[in-house]
Amino acid sequence: MSDPHLNLINGAWVPGDHLSENRNPSDLADLIGLYAAGTAGDVTAAAEAAAAAQPGWFAAGPQARTDLLDRIATRIEAEATDIATMLAREEGKILPEALAETRRAAQIFRFFAGEALRMSGEALASVRPGVDIEVTREPVGVVGLITPWNFPAAIPAWKIAPALAYGNAVVLKPAELVPGTAHMLARIIHEAGCPAGVFNLVMGPGSVVGRAMVEAPQIGAISFTGSVPTGRAIARAAAERMKKVQLEMGGKNPMVVLDDADLPTAVAACLNGAFFSTGQRCTASSRLIVQAGIHDAFVAELTRQMMALRVGPALAPDSQIGPVVSAQQLAGNLSYVDLARAEGCEVIGGERLNLPTEGHFQRPALFLNARNDMRVAREEIFGPCAAVIRVADFDEVLAVANDSDFGLSAGICTTSLRHAREFRRQARVGMVMVNLPTAGVDYHVPFGGTKGSSLGPREQGRHAAEFYTTVKTSYSFAG
Ligand code: NAD
Repeated sequence: MSDPHLNLINGAWVPGDHLSENRNPSDLADLIGLYAAGTAGDVTAAAEAAAAAQPGWFAAGPQARTDLLDRIATRIEAEATDIATMLAREEGKILPEALAETRRAAQIFRFFAGEALRMSGEALASVRPGVDIEVTREPVGVVGLITPWNFPAAIPAWKIAPALAYGNAVVLKPAELVPGTAHMLARIIHEAGCPAGVFNLVMGPGSVVGRAMVEAPQIGAISFTGSVPTGRAIARAAAERMKKVQLEMGGKNPMVVLDDADLPTAVAACLNGAFFSTGQRCTASSRLIVQAGIHDAFVAELTRQMMALRVGPALAPDSQIGPVVSAQQLAGNLSYVDLARAEGCEVIGGERLNLPTEGHFQRPALFLNARNDMRVAREEIFGPCAAVIRVADFDEVLAVANDSDFGLSAGICTTSLRHAREFRRQARVGMVMVNLPTAGVDYHVPFGGTKGSSLGPREQGRHAAEFYTTVKTSYSFAG
C-alpha cells in the first residue's frame, strides 16, 4: 500500500477528512493507493489561495506562463510511461491508449505554452473624433475545473493548460475513480515551479467538493466535463450565482455507413469508434446507421472483427479492450444488454467475462435490428455497446442521425463526395468525421457539441480563449 496522496492547496500537500481507496478495475485485489477526500473547507481554502495568487500570476506576464507550461509539457513527456501505467491501472484503458493520451496531455500544454504569447486584442478607431478604442482579453480570475474519469490525463490537461496560459488560477477536482493520474499531474505542475495558490488540487466526491466549487464566491467560472444530470445541476447552481459555465456532456453519436462505402474503411472506423477504450468515450459511435444494400455484409464483417477483439487486463500486452471502469458502470452496461433484448434487438456479445484476475470485463456488444426510437438508441450507455439501425436512403440517414437529444460527433463512411458534403452541412453536431471514427480528435481545433451535449464556449485550440478570458473594451480620449 502506498503513502496517502494528499490535496495540493496553496503550494502545500494537505490531508482531507478521510482517505479513499483507488482500485484497479482489471484486478480488484490491486489497491493502487489511498487518496485524500477533501471537504468544503478545503475548497474554500483552495479558492481563497487561488484568488490571492491570481493577480500576481497574470502580472508575471506571458513569458513566465509560457515557460511554466513548457516545463510541465517536458516533465509529462519524461514521466509518460509512469503516468500512462497509472492511467491504465486506475481507469482500465489499455497501455498503448493510455500512453497516447498522456502524450496528448503534454502536447496540449505545449500548444498553450505558445498561446500564452499570442493573447491578442484589437485596436479600432472610435466613431467619435479623437477617441481610440482597445479591445483586450483578460483572465476570468479563478476557474474551477471538474473532470470525469474517462480521460484522466487529457481532459484535466485541456482545461488546466488554457486556464493557466491566459492568466487564471485553478482549482481542479478530478473524478473519484481516477485520482492517481490527476495527482501525478498536480505534482508535476507543482515541481515545475507553479507559484503557490495558482494551481490547487482538491480530490473527493462531487457532491461535496464539486458542489462547494460551484458555490465558492471566489471561483468565477466552472468548466465541467461529465454526465448530463451533473451538468444540469451545475448549470442551475451557476446561473443562481451568475457564474460562467462550460459544460461538455454526453453523446449518442451516429456513424453512417452508406451503400457506396469502402467496406474495410467502414468496419475499421466502426470497430474503433464503438469499442476502443471500452466504448467509454463521449464521442463513441453508439448508433451505427447502415444503408440496406451494405447492411448484411457490414454486420457480418463487423461481428467477425468484434468477436475477435481480445478483452483483458489493461496492462497485459495482448489486450485490445480493457475492463469497464467500475462495478456500477458494468451493471449499467449489462442492464442495457438486457434492455436491448427486451426491446426486440438481436444481441451479439455483451456478456460479462470471467478472466483470471477479478475485474469488470465485458465482451463488446452489437444490438442488431435496432430502431431509433428504442431506449438503447436514445440513451447514452457509455460502454462497449453499439446499436445497428438499418435505413433505406440518404434522406432517412439524415433524419435518423439528427433525431437525438445529443449532438456531439457524427461520422459518415462513403465514397460519394456529394453525400459527404451534404452530411457535413446537415449533421446537427459540433464535430463531423468523413471516413473516420466519430472518436479521435486533434488538440489545436475546437471540441464540443450541440443540443444536450454541450453548453457554453468550445474547448481546445484557440477557441479556448472564449471561456478562459473575458473581453474588455477601453475608450481613451487624448484631449
Ligand atoms: P459525472 O457527471 O458522474 O461526474 C463528472 C464529474 O462531476 C466528477 O468529477 C464528479 O465527481 C463531479 N460531480 C458529481 N456530482 C457533482 C455535483 N453535484 N456538483 C459538482 N460536481 C459533481 O460523469 P462521469 O461518470 O465521471 O463521466 C462520464 C460522463 O462524462 C459521460 O456522460 C460522458 O459522455 C461524459 N463525457 C463527456 C465528454 C465531452 O467532452 N463531451 C468527455 C468525456 C466524458
